[in-house]
Amino acid sequence: MNAPLREPSFRESVDLMFNRAVRLMDLSPGLEEKIRVCNSTYTVRFGVRLRGAIHTFTGYRSVHSEHMEPVKGGIRYAMGVNQDEVEALAALMTYKCALVEAPFGGSKGGLRIDPREWDEHELEQITRRFAFELVKRDLINPSQNVPAPDMGTGEREMAWMVDQYKRMNTTDINAAACVTGKPLNAGGIHGRVEATGRGVQYALQEFFRHPEDVKRARLAGGLEGKRVIVQGLGNVGYHAAKFLSEEDGVKIVAVIERDGAILNPNGVPVEFLKTHIAATGGVKGFPRGTYVDDGAAALEEECDILIPAAMESVINLTNAERIKAPLIIEAANGPVTAGADEVLRAKGVVIIPDLYANAGGVTVSYFEWVKNLSHIRFGRMQRRQEEAQHALLVSEMERILHSAGVKGGISERFKSEYVRGAGELELVRSGLDDTMRTAYQSMREVWHGRKDVDDLRVAAYLVSIARVAASYRSKGL
Ligand code: GLU
Repeated sequence: MNAPLREPSFRESVDLMFNRAVRLMDLSPGLEEKIRVCNSTYTVRFGVRLRGAIHTFTGYRSVHSEHMEPVKGGIRYAMGVNQDEVEALAALMTYKCALVEAPFGGSKGGLRIDPREWDEHELEQITRRFAFELVKRDLINPSQNVPAPDMGTGEREMAWMVDQYKRMNTTDINAAACVTGKPLNAGGIHGRVEATGRGVQYALQEFFRHPEDVKRARLAGGLEGKRVIVQGLGNVGYHAAKFLSEEDGVKIVAVIERDGAILNPNGVPVEFLKTHIAATGGVKGFPRGTYVDDGAAALEEECDILIPAAMESVINLTNAERIKAPLIIEAANGPVTAGADEVLRAKGVVIIPDLYANAGGVTVSYFEWVKNLSHIRFGRMQRRQEEAQHALLVSEMERILHSAGVKGGISERFKSEYVRGAGELELVRSGLDDTMRTAYQSMREVWHGRKDVDDLRVAAYLVSIARVAASYRSKGL
């Protein structure tokens, strides 16, 4: 029997992918090293008095690259958080932001905690204490380091963090921009919660606009009717599955969760399943599909598109060979290890890589940060003016049609849709769609244009690293 191959750590995995790309570039070894390494990682251990005893928590904030500031990236709450993981995730943030042209360096944070073990009030105390430690060192700061939600955190945690920052910086007029992913009433933006899932949808829509690319994945036609497996029905997986099934006609043939999977060849009703999970804590017992307790095995089921939306390293050397999906879109960060990536590429699987696929979150975070700094909601100045212009055009057309004796005229539905000016949500969606399309084009040009590039991941890294390198060079490095 062959000796089992050693799986690299998450951090090593990201470096291996980076190395595969820089080999094809003409960077000086010094600059290559400068970009690859993580600039700093701050570790904090703090105690909080809870339930009559002092509990010590360990948290991290890692800054990968400061070629642009502020640096950006989420804060996750999970028991598996460790330095290697936050550094890998911070590096991915650098490349992700460069790829989608969000003007940030890369950062990531984490707190080793199981959020389900604590009640809301306790979580607030822990979060405020963690935020205090980070604010004190400018690791939460609108112009230096701007966190956001990630696994195990959401709007609620961001609201506590921004409030903590405000208490410590009472005269900072830009305080709201110190974190993104906030609730609307605390300076958030419409469309941020669903942004990562929306971005996955827009990424797939863009992929399927290119028959040549679809063919590379041994598929044909559009998204309609494609069989999709989703792993993880958290914020990202839930929204991706919901939008793809409700708006693009895909069939969610399996949903994999912590306690097993639900299979249904006719399509799992996503909304119902989400409600079931919220009520029971898992997918078991869901009436509209077949339950299997071996969730990992469900990753290997037949499908057209596999969406790992849970966590890193779930597709690795132990299962890569058995994955049947011809197309994988990495909604999570790092779900495919470097080793598995090699196995899958050899099998001809097309992988839409994480740094592109899940960049919708940080893209809308960028819009939120800009909104906070400009202190005005998108669309507030133009919306009614736009509506007046459109209404003027419609009434003129109606007048001309009427005088030409055309029967029927303009339909009421067209009129109301055309006249309506864009509000914040429409503008956010438009900006996100544009970003996902443009970033795909930039990867695609490299994928198709260079003979030495045969996968989207290397193409994405090449685009990103070139941008980061250009930014360092312009600083004289
Ligand atoms: N945590 C998300 C990510 O991994 C969002 C980061 C952000 O919005 O800054 O991309």
